[in-house]
Amino acid sequence: MSPPRKGFRTCQRCKKNRAERFFSSSRARFCSTCLKKKRSKGAHEQRVMKTYGLKAGEYDKLLAAQGGVCAICKKSRRGNFDVDHDHKTGLVRGLLCPADNRKVLKYARNDPQRLRAAAEYIEAPPALRILGERLHIDFRDEEE
Ligand SMILES: [Zn+2]
Ligand SMILES: [Zn+2]
Repeated sequence: MSPPRKGFRTCQRCKKNRAERFFSSSRARFCSTCLKKKRSKGAHEQRVMKTYGLKAGEYDKLLAAQGGVCAICKKSRRGNFDVDHDHKTGLVRGLLCPADNRKVLKYARNDPQRLRAAAEYIEAPPALRILGERLHIDFRDEEE
């Protein structure tokens, strides 16, 4: 490779000789075009691999196996899913929407028993069984 002309530098990624202005600093090894590409495409995967130990393509593989939706609410989303993991063991469990990961599981403190109980509670509310139908009336709208 011929040395770049003065004021030019070789990007270590695309191997092109590019003007200094395409480099963020005198020590930057990659040109701005390469950096932009790196940040957008695959940046999420890189982070996921680094943080959760997933291998290349495993996020997509998992998401495809989940049908492209959150493992709990079964809804799709435009952005990325959270990689949910067991905080005790550190083991990755699956992909969840932020609401299910950061609200539902967080409030339930990752306690499956509590979540089962909550599901049973909603399906068979004790008040209905014990008192019969009592209707909650929301008066808030009338107090304007
Ligand atoms: Zn480059
Ligand atoms: Zn969800």
